Amino acid sequence: MNIVLFGPPGAGKGTQAKELTKHYNIPHISTGDILRANVREGTNLGIKAKEYMDKGELVPDEVLIGIIRDRLQLSDCKDGYMLDGYPRTLPQAEALKEILENINKPLEVVLNIDVPDKELIDRLSGRRTCSCGESYHLMFNPPLDEGTCGACGGKLYQRDDDREDVVRQRLEIYAAKTMPLIDYYNNRGILVNIDGTGSVEDVFKQIRDVLDPYRK
Ligand code: ADP
Ligand code: ADP
Ligand code: ZN
Repeated sequence: MNIVLFGPPGAGKGTQAKELTKHYNIPHISTGDILRANVREGTNLGIKAKEYMDKGELVPDEVLIGIIRDRLQLSDCKDGYMLDGYPRTLPQAEALKEILENINKPLEVVLNIDVPDKELIDRLSGRRTCSCGESYHLMFNPPLDEGTCGACGGKLYQRDDDREDVVRQRLEIYAAKTMPLIDYYNNRGILVNIDGTGSVEDVFKQIRDVLDPYRK
């Protein structure tokens, strides 16, 4: 199954992807997680990307296109993939189309998780993240043991870009550069809207109802 999880920052893409990747046994490819791993490891890519990420800006398209091209070649994508956080611009979407044509794995569904801005701000301001990619919320999804990741035992932190001023900038960039992709995929007939405002379980169920028919 070849899918994109689409939606604004804080919509719940990462949270849903963690469950979906186990349920459908396809890799979860989060460009944000890949970039943050590079920042932690201090790679050249990470040093360059951090400047953009800390300001809430998008990392240049050619960097992301290279990352995705390499990642989709790996053998774990043979039965499908779940992209999270990519594409975010029209050039990224067009590059993706070409990459997928070359490997003969066309996109089947783009899930657009919809959540109003006010709720996004609440979600992002209370988010706590683990380097394993798991995310929690101080009120909506608290870790069992405060400050510790229930999945891997790692230490939770607040992302630098989850501070309120950076959050607003990210939401503006989403509206300007990323939202146009909703029309782009709608015109191709593969966009499905998901109401992201319910509980994590509610949203998971809506997504499963959409994806189950694509299961091989
Ligand atoms: P994204 O990957 O789209 O940026 P996350 O999955 O990291 O979003 O979720 C953002 C924040 O909202 C996290 O703190 C997460 O725990 C919380 N969250 C995710 N889904 C829900 C939900 N359905 N209801 C309430 N809070 C949620
Ligand atoms: P969220 O889902 O909370 O918006 P991500 O973890 O997906 O955050 O991304 C964090 C940051 O990493 C973005 O604000 C951006 O700077 C960078 N980034 C991630 N994916 C992309 C992408 N496809 N194109 C450009 N920048 C990206
Ligand atoms: Zn963890």
